[in-house]
Amino acid sequence: MTNIASTTNRAGKFPAIFKRREFFYHDGKGLRRFSLSVEAQLSGAALMLALLLWSALAAAKLMIAAPDGRVAQMERQVQSMQADVQALKRHAAQRYGSTAAAVEKLGLAPERFTGTGGPFEAVEPLKTADPNFKSLFTSWKKLDQLEQGTIAIPSTMPVKGTALTSKYGVRSDPFQGRAAMHAGVDLAGPLGTPIYATADGYVERSNWVGGYGNLVELNHGKGIQTRYGHLSKALVTPGQRVKRGDLIALMGSTGRSTGSHLHYEVRIDGKAVNPIPFMQSNEYLAAVQRRAALALGGPGGN
Ligand SMILES: [Zn+2]
Repeated sequence: MTNIASTTNRAGKFPAIFKRREFFYHDGKGLRRFSLSVEAQLSGAALMLALLLWSALAAAKLMIAAPDGRVAQMERQVQSMQADVQALKRHAAQRYGSTAAAVEKLGLAPERFTGTGGPFEAVEPLKTADPNFKSLFTSWKKLDQLEQGTIAIPSTMPVKGTALTSKYGVRSDPFQGRAAMHAGVDLAGPLGTPIYATADGYVERSNWVGGYGNLVELNHGKGIQTRYGHLSKALVTPGQRVKRGDLIALMGSTGRSTGSHLHYEVRIDGKAVNPIPFMQSNEYLAAVQRRAALALGGPGGN
């Protein structure tokens, strides 16, 4: 729950927003009350739900004719919430900016993650909704898509406590002695050292591939893949789903290899990129990834 605590700290500027609160909306038959906890509001998904109900409330205002005091009360609530909208929009923009910066540092455009799909695609705001709410809805949807998208980004180390023995880029080929492109990094360790998935995804292949020897390739979605080569043993099979940190293979020296090590690649749109920035821990991004995984899987979901 540390991620929620840290979000609370960042949300500290808006104490009026992040407290247990009740929403009123009209479902066409009568006025309904909907209570939302702080924890729920801090998850983007729940906030979206609240905004939808809020939109429904705006629509209800147009439908309710009976002025028995409740409409006036609702209107007062909507007015006070309108003030919150601006603060929430700023908060969303700030969070989006920080996440986008962390993603861009890795050479990835944020649009890679916000372009398509997303859990809120099916529930566009009501046409009757206040434009202010609509723009807040859009901001939060974009933020949510970006944060959910970061799950596909490799982070953490594929091997624990290992030594980097060969960097990405042009190097002297260990077999031929002439300059050749090295498409990944080499991490040395004893035979049988555990190797872990660096992001959620599924196993695209797990077989012998020429110079790679035994190779596991993971597809993380959004055009991102990782490769783990020279394995003594693969512990996953094609099509299998994996989570970040799952044990997927054991280190070896199969294929074109001079000693026990892992050849690790990060590939974007089918092209190998330097894995080093992805292996360096970024606390902000890690927190976003944990929160996104929690929102998707739910507490206790594994
Ligand atoms: Zn290598």
